[in-house]
Amino acid sequence: MWSFDEIAEKALADEPIYHQIVVDKIDGMQNIEIQQDLLSKFGKTHSLEYISSLWRKKIPNLIASAAEDQLLDWHYLEVEKGKYKRCSRCGQIKLAHNKYFSKNKTSKDGFYSICKCCRNSKAKKS
Ligand SMILES: [Zn+2]
Repeated sequence: MWSFDEIAEKALADEPIYHQIVVDKIDGMQNIEIQQDLLSKFGKTHSLEYISSLWRKKIPNLIASAAEDQLLDWHYLEVEKGKYKRCSRCGQIKLAHNKYFSKNKTSKDGFYSICKCCRNSKAKKS
């Protein structure tokens, strides 16, 4: 299916700092060296506690959830023969699956036309 590198790359694509920490860790750098490296590359000092908690909690969680998404996509498309649908608000194409769209018995495909993200952000505003 997918290599760890591909999944990590995808999971951390929006987070250059997290990605840099992974690269540095793989290079065998200590947190204190990573702190210097982040400062030289991103111009910001992050505390050692922050770097350590990203490495131990945040980053593995992101990678695990990306792997789960990939697996869900694969399972849904290949095993359940599911479909994609476009959210009528944000226009993003997502799986027509309860993970992305809430169920709606009155609609043709069984899901709302607006994705969960958009529905949640709408709910928060009002
Ligand atoms: Zn949406």
